[in-house]
Amino acid sequence: MLIGAHESIAGGVSQAFARAEEHGARSLQIFTKNARGWSAPSLTDTERRAFRAEARRTGLPSIAHGSYLVNLGSEDPALRERSLACVTEELTRCERLGISLLVIHPGAHPDERRGLRLIAEAIDEVHRRTPRFRARLCLESTAGQGHCLGWRFWHLAEILSQVAREDRLGVCLDTCHLFAAGYDLSTEKGYEAVMAECDATVGLKRVGCFHLNDCKKPLGCRVDRHEEVGKGAIGRVAFRCLVNDPRFVNTIGVLETPFPERYAEAIRLLESLRRGR
Ligand SMILES: [Zn+2]
Repeated sequence: MLIGAHESIAGGVSQAFARAEEHGARSLQIFTKNARGWSAPSLTDTERRAFRAEARRTGLPSIAHGSYLVNLGSEDPALRERSLACVTEELTRCERLGISLLVIHPGAHPDERRGLRLIAEAIDEVHRRTPRFRARLCLESTAGQGHCLGWRFWHLAEILSQVAREDRLGVCLDTCHLFAAGYDLSTEKGYEAVMAECDATVGLKRVGCFHLNDCKKPLGCRVDRHEEVGKGAIGRVAFRCLVNDPRFVNTIGVLETPFPERYAEAIRLLESLRRGR
């Protein structure tokens, strides 16, 4: 696994690489714009060039995380169009910056089947608006809070099976969300069972990246509360399994805990869990 962290873009997107280097990261995730707003000033050519130069200089692969406001499962035409426009804009930023993956939350709807259909249709529309893009969308597994979809593997598998361009879509597994959703990866046996279920439904080849978070609350709590790796209800075993899993040697895994000042320590901990060290 290419262990890294979600890095701040304060001062411009290109600034994230130096932060990742400081933290000893082998990869990074960024927001390409303010994740709690709809629109943002457009990306300048200077910023785009600076980002690509930093990517080359450091050799660090990057992924992006989309806005929290988006709901591709919405029935409301205005919110739906805003969400479509936002994801399209973010995917366009990724394409211009040379970022391979944009992680998005699938969306929310009180009726599972209807919601999954709406999400798949929305993704098809984003794909139509971004033809020939190399940057891919990755649907993040969720904790299943409220009406959020994507907390069962079959939800993700259903969306993948419904979209016209499955080759343009992957998934992002968040360890905290999996655990909160009831997938117990806290033991070796549990980890293997969860991965086997993921493989049988979504397919492990669809896993584009991981979010490496522990969980503040117990198994199956259905609430999204990230904890620092090894300090929550999941514990170290799951992370040891993950960083040593030969199926994910070249897969990006990033920390998303709220304390960047402790990223370096957490990355060192994860690196120390690699076998043969
Ligand atoms: Zn996450």
